[in-house]
Amino acid sequence: MEGSAVTRASGTAARPEADGPAVRLNGLTKRFGSGVVALADFTADISRGEFIAMVGPSGCGKSTLLRHLAGLIPPTEGSVEIFGDEVEGPRGDVSMMFQQATLLDWRTSLENVLLPHELASRAGNRRAARARRKEAVELLRMLGLGGFEHAYPAHLSGGMQQRVALARLLMTHADMLLLDEPFGALDEFTRERLNLELMQIFERLRPTVVFVTHNIQEAVLLADRVFVMTPSPGRLAGILEVDLPRPRGIDVTRERRFNDLVFEVRDLLGSSIA
Ligand code: ADP
Ligand code: MG
Repeated sequence: MEGSAVTRASGTAARPEADGPAVRLNGLTKRFGSGVVALADFTADISRGEFIAMVGPSGCGKSTLLRHLAGLIPPTEGSVEIFGDEVEGPRGDVSMMFQQATLLDWRTSLENVLLPHELASRAGNRRAARARRKEAVELLRMLGLGGFEHAYPAHLSGGMQQRVALARLLMTHADMLLLDEPFGALDEFTRERLNLELMQIFERLRPTVVFVTHNIQEAVLLADRVFVMTPSPGRLAGILEVDLPRPRGIDVTRERRFNDLVFEVRDLLGSSIA
């Protein structure tokens, strides 16, 4: 991708605190009014450029954790730091994507991908606008949507809609990407292809990623480390280092090491549920 219009977000290296972790969770506890303890004493660091997959059964607090990282809800106890600052609300260098594509029906693929920039727009610069458009077109092409730039969401399959949402996410150039079961509603084949595409993009751009899934294979395939969570109360049961070399392709799923890691995650989930 020499000369690509799609580049790594700038600015990370210029930060004085660039050596610290991307995320520091310190005793994060979230109790809802209902009395539910969604997260109990969650402590972990995430490095810059690291891909974290978070796995665990429904209700173990995965989405709650992402909502803290996105600055959408405050902790009951403990703290959440991102790039050295305590999180106090949504921030421009953190972007999130959900299981539903949440595209605007009345805008084409291209117009949806350009949306974050329009919202943040320093209006008036036509050259910048052209460059953004070029980047959006390239992102769509990279994600297999060349030729569908002007299609409306209603004319796209679920998988294609998620591709548009992924392009829109990457278009933000955020240093940190939060993905909440982004491919959970898709069929197995589409999901696998999108995982491989996401991995290629990640290996090129190296943002910090927190990817929530309840699919163990998906977690091991994608991640540098897997955070294994268990419910009632939502706790971090263990962290697994995925020592499979990158770049990874689908072949890696046939390797013995891959399958050993999948079983280790299962063990962590099983032993703490029992
Ligand atoms: P997951 O994403 O792992 O399925 P969630 O983070 O959505 O789990 O939820 C964790 C627990 O917190 C669940 O028991 C859920 O019912 C509860 N919960 C989540 N959000 C709220 C809320 N706004 N009010 C009350 N309880 C909530
Ligand atoms: Mg959830």
